[in-house]
Amino acid sequence: MSRSIPRLILLTALFSGPTALAQTPSPFTEAVKEIQNNSKVKAANEHIDRNRAGILREWIQITEINAPSGHEQERAKYLERLLRQSRLQNIHYDSAGNLIAVRKGTGGGRTVVFDAHLDTVFQPGLKIKATVKEGKIYAPGVGDDTRNIEALLATIRALNAAQIKTRGDLVFVFTVEEETSFGGVKRFVEDNKGKIDYYIALDGGYEGFTYAGIGINWYRHHFIGPGGHTRSRTPPYSASLPLARAISRIYDLKIPSNPSSNLNIGMLGGSEVVNAKASDAWFTVDLRSTSNEVITDLEKKIRVILEEEAKRANVSLKTDVISTSPAAVIPGHRDSDLVKIAEAVHRAMGFDPPITATGSNNSSVALLNGIPSISTGAGPCDDSHALTENCEIEPLYQGIKKILLLELALAQL
Ligand SMILES: [Zn+2]
Repeated sequence: MSRSIPRLILLTALFSGPTALAQTPSPFTEAVKEIQNNSKVKAANEHIDRNRAGILREWIQITEINAPSGHEQERAKYLERLLRQSRLQNIHYDSAGNLIAVRKGTGGGRTVVFDAHLDTVFQPGLKIKATVKEGKIYAPGVGDDTRNIEALLATIRALNAAQIKTRGDLVFVFTVEEETSFGGVKRFVEDNKGKIDYYIALDGGYEGFTYAGIGINWYRHHFIGPGGHTRSRTPPYSASLPLARAISRIYDLKIPSNPSSNLNIGMLGGSEVVNAKASDAWFTVDLRSTSNEVITDLEKKIRVILEEEAKRANVSLKTDVISTSPAAVIPGHRDSDLVKIAEAVHRAMGFDPPITATGSNNSSVALLNGIPSISTGAGPCDDSHALTENCEIEPLYQGIKKILLLELALAQL
């Protein structure tokens, strides 16, 4: 395409606010390419390439500081030292223990939060030693979420080395307790309500991103009967009978694939011995959907089945709610500037991004508070939450460049 005039229009389209040209993705595509071709941005990417060895070394060092949820301080202190060397501003901890640092913009731009969580799912005291083998790095926590912590550090240093200034503030927040209660992100969002334009949770992901959070409800349903010896008079039956009937009927329910939904009955229990009827037969339900209406509808249908089968077997019913979290959805968000800019960034990096509504991380908390949010990540990894967790090394450098481009496209050059 021709150069000067269209370019001016395109830049205006990207930088003139949240509703500009929301229906046409092309302006964002072109504007992101402009950023990518900026000489300072090229210098930042070269800085990332020159420092591969250092990035890998630091990634390993941070990974080897285990940080179970609620015990993130040692890892946070380590990062705090690195952030101070990077001359960020307002480096501090909030009351939840989140580590926060700000890269001040020149003014007039959006405030964009980039979050990576500090905590791991591994028990306190676990000694972690990373091993590098055939292009991969193996260690518990190396991917979830240390790869994204390292990606943020690498982008901060690259931005500084290339003397890049953004208009908006980039706020880096290293959160606690993502894996358990979302306590860190909840505190941060509560403290900063009204001050955040975009919230980017880096957690999982590489080629694609999520723009909504899936709803997840967990239950334990019990059928309660009198129990008794195998030879005791029936009915009432062992409470295992209504359990079996109910499970079979629940699995006959139609679970929609659009909106994306899942149902799993993973745990069950009954009598402790062979020669007794179950007095308490129970099973769990893990119900997920990107639509709260679907969740409500399926819950109603499951309730009817449970009541009918309890009645039929002449036993009673009890339900424990293990946990519930609603689908985190902002209407129209799929077509928002944030999602379109993120899509343009991924395409500019050579990805054909899967864009899904099935996130399950800090991004959901931001969305539930009405803050436009996506989640993505800086590299492909496997076996998260397992001792065999591992990540490919080479793609991380491309992933870091992607995060850098996302920072610049959102906080504005
Ligand atoms: Zn995670």
